[in-house]
Amino acid sequence: MCTEAEDSIDKVASEVVVCTKCRLCNTRKHAVPGEGSRSARVMFVGEAPGEQEDNQGRPFVGAAGKLLTELVESIGLRREDVYITNIVKCRPPNNRPPRKDETQACGPYLERQMSLIQPRVICPMGNSAIRGLMNSEDSVTLLHGIPFEVGSITYFPMFHPAAALYTFSLKKVLEEDFKKLGALLGSLAG
Ligand code: URA
Ligand code: SF4
Repeated sequence: MCTEAEDSIDKVASEVVVCTKCRLCNTRKHAVPGEGSRSARVMFVGEAPGEQEDNQGRPFVGAAGKLLTELVESIGLRREDVYITNIVKCRPPNNRPPRKDETQACGPYLERQMSLIQPRVICPMGNSAIRGLMNSEDSVTLLHGIPFEVGSITYFPMFHPAAALYTFSLKKVLEEDFKKLGALLGSLAG
């Protein structure tokens, strides 16, 4: 039965697009709730929308997004099979990293997305996402490619695709980590 209190991905998105819970609402053009399959087995979480995402209201649509889409396809999935979002849903001015109070204000949206989608694996991409999701100060250099189980969810940290665009050697690392992710997804029931 559908009750009035029932949450949904659309409800989260409709709240995000008008949200004023932190200062980032003052400078955004469009909030970027996230997109993808509501029954995704894997969820990718980046740092924050960039300029193109802010213009379009969609996550990972620039150069880093193109690489992310290719990597997803490299393990036999389509972009629309996974769920893609960010730690904060609005673009920080000049792409500065999100501040702690912004991450905290925005956190409940991501938590709701996680409990609605119930992905089997969550991939925090880059240090901001690792800090925000895994409550860890350890860097992506140390944690990437190593599954970390918390209850029914497996966290699988990765480098941010933008980092791989700046540093070519990281692209290989990211490709290898995606192969591991593909194997991990294959090994997990459900
Ligand atoms: N970088 C991110 O962290 N998120 C996006 O949506 C785009 C680029
Ligand atoms: Fe709201 Fe998150 Fe945007 Fe801040 S970043 S205004 S908390 S949606």
